[in-house]
Amino acid sequence: MLLLDGKALAATIKEEIAEDVRRFTGEGNRPPHLVAVLVGDDGASQTYVGNKVRSCEQVGFRSTLHRLPAETSQEELMALVAELNADAEVDGYIVQLPLPGHLDEEAVTLAIAPAKDVDGFHPTNIGRMTLGLPAYLPATPNGIMRILDRYGVETSGKHCVVIGRSNIVGTPMSILLSRNANPGNCTVTLTHSRTKNLAELCRQADIIVAALGRPAFLTADMVREGAVVIDVGITRVEDASRKRGYRLQGDVDFESVAAKCAAITPVPGGVGPMTVVSLLLNTFDAARRQQATARV
Ligand code: NAD
Repeated sequence: MLLLDGKALAATIKEEIAEDVRRFTGEGNRPPHLVAVLVGDDGASQTYVGNKVRSCEQVGFRSTLHRLPAETSQEELMALVAELNADAEVDGYIVQLPLPGHLDEEAVTLAIAPAKDVDGFHPTNIGRMTLGLPAYLPATPNGIMRILDRYGVETSGKHCVVIGRSNIVGTPMSILLSRNANPGNCTVTLTHSRTKNLAELCRQADIIVAALGRPAFLTADMVREGAVVIDVGITRVEDASRKRGYRLQGDVDFESVAAKCAAITPVPGGVGPMTVVSLLLNTFDAARRQQATARV
């Protein structure tokens, strides 16, 4: 069994990005600048945003964190979005989801300038991705594509079962895997909560991407010998033996599935770190475009 070590791969790619940033700034450009907007004090969101900001620092990007109180109004948030859209010093930005319940996530996502939408959530970027045009790809699915690519996992002609159809993971994952590209060219079955014969479908899969948010959902009896298993799930599960009182659990029952499959991502240390790397790569692309345009 091959452990698809997203943490180690992310470290390698970050070194490559840092080298590229040195070259980029050496050519007289300012460092790429990512802005993160965090509304409220959700614990998991704070951790994710903290990782993103720290990763920027590691590769030589500039990063700015806007922390807004939970009671921020829609108007205030939209005003910040408009400001970030107009700020030539900001290459890309993210508004960390989920937002507190009284805020309209869709309106915020639609208001982000597609050229700065480094999360790849705007319909323009989703549409361009679907058509195979250059686009900011959603960070988690793109991170998974990079794991498959760098570890040399053959995807062409393979049957891939994606579990979960969210806009940020399952659905874009199914599009990227089925595109005429490498990695890609999979035959994809996109499954969800209404799928009837999920275990049977999974047993037919060469590659399984589990992204449903149910701890240890995918068990060994659902996986055929030699499959490749990608675990996207991150759930905080109470664990009194840990200092912080919880541990992170994936959607895959790691021990039993690992014994059966050809390759698998761990949780933590699999897909998560690669999600952050995708965001850095999108931001670097945004900076290259923004600064090339500014020179014209
Ligand atoms: P979501 O809740 O938006 O979507 C879950 C999907 O799973 C839905 O489409 C639903 O139909 C499907 N589903 C639910 N129960 C099912 C069942 N019994 N059988 C089949 N399908 C079922 O979740 P999301 O935002 O896509 O996130 C999924 C998981 O991935 C969560 O644990 C989340 O924390 C994690 N996640 C991890 C990263 C990362 O960087 N590693 C990034 C995003 C999300």
